[in-house]
Amino acid sequence: MHTNLLTAFGLLSFCRLFHLQNTPSFKMKFIDIGANLKDGMYQGIYNGKTENPKHEPDLEHVLRRAWDAGLHKIIITGTNVADSQSALKLAQSDERLYSTVGCHPTQCTEYESDPDAYSQSLDKLIREGGNKVVAFGEFGLDYDRLQYCPKEIQLKYFEKQLNLSLNHNLPLFLHCRNAESDFMRIIKEYAPKLSRKGVVHSFDGTTQQALDLTDLGFYIGINGCSLKTIENLEVLKSIPEDRLLLETDCPWCEVKQSHAGYSYVKTKHDNVKNMKWVPDKMVKSRNEPANIVQILEIVAAVRGVDQERLGSKIHTNTLRLFFPHELAHSDTTNHADGTERAV
Ligand SMILES: [Zn+2]
Repeated sequence: MHTNLLTAFGLLSFCRLFHLQNTPSFKMKFIDIGANLKDGMYQGIYNGKTENPKHEPDLEHVLRRAWDAGLHKIIITGTNVADSQSALKLAQSDERLYSTVGCHPTQCTEYESDPDAYSQSLDKLIREGGNKVVAFGEFGLDYDRLQYCPKEIQLKYFEKQLNLSLNHNLPLFLHCRNAESDFMRIIKEYAPKLSRKGVVHSFDGTTQQALDLTDLGFYIGINGCSLKTIENLEVLKSIPEDRLLLETDCPWCEVKQSHAGYSYVKTKHDNVKNMKWVPDKMVKSRNEPANIVQILEIVAAVRGVDQERLGSKIHTNTLRLFFPHELAHSDTTNHADGTERAV
């Protein structure tokens, strides 16, 4: 009996020791730099059908899953004046939420009726937002969706917002889709004047574009839309590590099974169709911030590097661009593997 007790005690101690040794001492921390949390899908509205919501508003559940998954900040994307205003309002409701202010290229026709008044509205929102507004954007060029805004109008307001951004000491949150040549020509001209540069989010460009952007001092934002093809994954390998950022672009750009990156995903969540919504499950085909870990898993595997170390490095990159004061105040320690971690 006595021997059995000792054996049981020994086994218990061994299990505890084993458990401790296999519990990561450093919990992964994430910042989602691009989350469209004001999208109707988080109100149960799909395909614009406001009269027929598929489920009750569930942003509180989406955010709970995000915080549980290791997110500690989320930057809500503002895509026009009204959307930026509501993104800021939401950001003001939680100390972990921040927002951007700008006009997306597909929405630039809004700018046309009174360009100066529109610019003033963006300026005013940035001033009102104080430290809650952490980037100027989303703006840029999108030649895949010219049906929403013609090329010449997109070009006009891309430059107008670049000029406007010079009034504010904010990094830029930029969008470039199928417009590499015009985008690079213009951004090269403005880059020397942009003190904090910014990020080209949802990047799906070429290796040359990635290297040109990082040479200019910009960061590259990676989400599910950046990981669709074998070519995308090849480009990913060429991006300097200190220029990588992660995002979800939720509710869009989830990693789909048909995407080249999907085979590297380790963390899979249960989900249900929107008609079968329940509070504690994700909705099929609706992306959310908690999925950001999947992006890290793919990026680390494709680049053949340790996931935890890369995640830590990207976290530091994110603080450097959007929250430099926190990086300055955080205690950075060199770990045995030679990496630097913000704690
Ligand atoms: Zn975008």
